[in-house]
Amino acid sequence: MKIFLEDKLVDEKDAVVSVFDHGLLYGDGVFEGIRAYNGRVFRLEQHIDRLFDSAKAIALTIPLSKEELSQAVVDTCKANEITNGYIRLVITRGKGTLGLNPYLCKKAQVIIIAANIQLYPQELYESGLKIVTVGTVRNHPEAINPRIKSLNYLNNVLAKIEAINSGCMECLMLNTQGQVAEASGDNVFAVKNGIISTPPSWCGALEGLTRKKVMELAQQAGYEVRESVMARYDLYVADEVFLTGTAAEIISVVDIDKRLIGDGKPGKVTKQLREMYLEASLTEGVLIQ
Ligand code: PMP
Repeated sequence: MKIFLEDKLVDEKDAVVSVFDHGLLYGDGVFEGIRAYNGRVFRLEQHIDRLFDSAKAIALTIPLSKEELSQAVVDTCKANEITNGYIRLVITRGKGTLGLNPYLCKKAQVIIIAANIQLYPQELYESGLKIVTVGTVRNHPEAINPRIKSLNYLNNVLAKIEAINSGCMECLMLNTQGQVAEASGDNVFAVKNGIISTPPSWCGALEGLTRKKVMELAQQAGYEVRESVMARYDLYVADEVFLTGTAAEIISVVDIDKRLIGDGKPGKVTKQLREMYLEASLTEGVLIQ
């Protein structure tokens, strides 16, 4: 496998970073998870924009331009003959001292990995996910804003541990006010009486690109789409609940905290949006060539 490291493609065995890299020492950095479908990188420009916004928020200078970075993503896919896959784009603070001071890190490190995707098993898309609410609350926006896609995912990892310990693959995270934020690695939506709702980002959600696309597709399909503050109650009594994310795409949730959602089967709105999303993914995006 070829990895893009710093400014060029190298063999996987040569793709090594310093143990003094603050990405490793402090989770200091930002990243994106991107998908390639049918020989195209899906929504590359939006991923690059979000990456630069995340970097701005943590005062990190990305050493390549948006154009150079986009090209590097395409080149990494090409070098690994990826036409359908998952791309991990990571910018770490770079090599520094053992102290926290990020200003002592001379140059941010760039890492791009293009590989095959590990999805939820296909049967889960057909049967739907069972999730639980976890005790770990989503980061307070004035501590680490969940809108920043940072390398510091311990908040999400702790939530995931609770989910797995409860026999679930995903979970529901609330904010410090007890309002619905998101899942550990996906955004959450509810469908009730034909209205599609998702929490606003200030409730503790990443502004997911799949979330955005699904909101656009739902509007195109004639649904009313809202960003609304939600309690767990709103999810329990919804007709349908689903999660969105680059890796998961759109997956139905049929059980939350042992409450069956709707009739306990993936709903028709979820299925319709999933079909529309997959169709869009086949034709939109930057060609890998
Ligand atoms: N929330 C969190 C915490 C995530 O890690 C992700 C996955 N990147 C998402 C939501 C979904 O975002 P996107 O649709 O941009 O992948």
